[in-house]
Amino acid sequence: SDSVVIIGAGHAGATLAGLLRQQKWAAPITLIGEESHPPYHRPPLSKKFTDDTMVQLLKPAHFYPDNDIELLLGVRATAVDVAARRVGLDNGEHRDFATLVIATGATPRMVPVPGAEAAGISTLRTISDAQRLGSALDAGVTLAVIGGGYVGMEVAAVARSRGVDVTVIEREDRILARVASAELSRRLTEYHAARGTRVVVNCTVAEFLAADGALTTVVAQDGTSIACDHVLVGVGAVPNVELAQQCGVACDGGVLVDRAGRTNVPGIMAIGDVTRRPHDALDGLYRLESIPSAVEQAKHAAAAICGTDGGVHETPWFWSDQFDLKLKIAGLLEAGTRTIVRAGESPESFGLFHQRLDRTVCAVETANSPKDFMAGKKLISEGVPVDPDLLADAEVPIRDLLR
Ligand code: FAD
Repeated sequence: SDSVVIIGAGHAGATLAGLLRQQKWAAPITLIGEESHPPYHRPPLSKKFTDDTMVQLLKPAHFYPDNDIELLLGVRATAVDVAARRVGLDNGEHRDFATLVIATGATPRMVPVPGAEAAGISTLRTISDAQRLGSALDAGVTLAVIGGGYVGMEVAAVARSRGVDVTVIEREDRILARVASAELSRRLTEYHAARGTRVVVNCTVAEFLAADGALTTVVAQDGTSIACDHVLVGVGAVPNVELAQQCGVACDGGVLVDRAGRTNVPGIMAIGDVTRRPHDALDGLYRLESIPSAVEQAKHAAAAICGTDGGVHETPWFWSDQFDLKLKIAGLLEAGTRTIVRAGESPESFGLFHQRLDRTVCAVETANSPKDFMAGKKLISEGVPVDPDLLADAEVPIRDLLR
């Protein structure tokens, strides 16, 4: 048959199932998810902590039966027999496939230090993680966030808004060191600090201490002690490559795929956070852990399966909400660029444009400035050189700088 079996009912897998039906793919589609909820949006998990706003399903539950998509929830795929084209499930059943799509996402990394199993130390990936964390974060609670990445800084902002005492502990010399420019890191650090969050940099966790089973302290390598009764560890996520490896699929920092999501094994594809992928407009391979990238890969995989054209890749982009800052970021940062600040209508609104020596823009980071974001994304994709003085001049309408 032409059966498509998708392992992982997350954003990438569920989007692919829907797109295949939209493109009139008539053969059986099975979507296997080990979580108990139908596919849902993860971004709200670190941005809201109340059940009604946090749980946002990708599609209404009836979408799957309505579209003849077999959705298996609470079921884990445990083995793949490549020669027999068969996936084994932990409920004792199996499914046969013509095309297998691995969309298993990633698992939050833990810090490998003593005491990390203590109650009160959590990571954040699923609805149940968020429910547990949300119910713990009330005014008066002391929270230490390990890792100043996007998830950590978003949780820090929500917790602080609820009156929680928050300390962010970052190993590098600035928050968001891997994913944001120095200028954005500086601005966000100030923004959080002004709202009462302590941000400690150059600080590596050595140990967690507990008394009577309850967490009390984070101890840093330099001996500093930080009292806390809850810890969120936000130090990145490791791609779930085990099944891919078992199939003989090449992996290196993620499942290696081509521009449409094909692996080196015929009939086996991979999409989403689990992959390391090429991008039409960029050299190299990237693990782009974002919704836009997951959706784009689903679109290209659907096209490859149906034999249609998925179009060209979109400039990578991403968003984050911290307090009342709506951050939108496009492109990828490069070394040796110059940062041009474009002031917005209020102090909480700005655009940071990262310009190469040839005056083209490789990345733009914006806060509360959708116009700068849209224009920046276009400058990046079209490779338009711009005059930095005009870019920095808020009086010059940004659209005048586009071709
Ligand atoms: P996932 O959504 O992780 O789905 C993978 C699924 O596969 C999981 O449900 C997992 O349980 C299941 N699975 C794994 N192995 C098996 C198996 N063997 N059998 C069955 N099922 C299996 N991105 C943005 O662009 N903007 C944001 O603001 C943003 N905020 C985020 C906030 C948080 C707290 C988190 C965790 C992520 C955020 N992201 C954000 C990233 C975004 O959510 C991910 O890029 C996206 O969910 C990736 O989709 P995916 O389908 O590849 O993986």
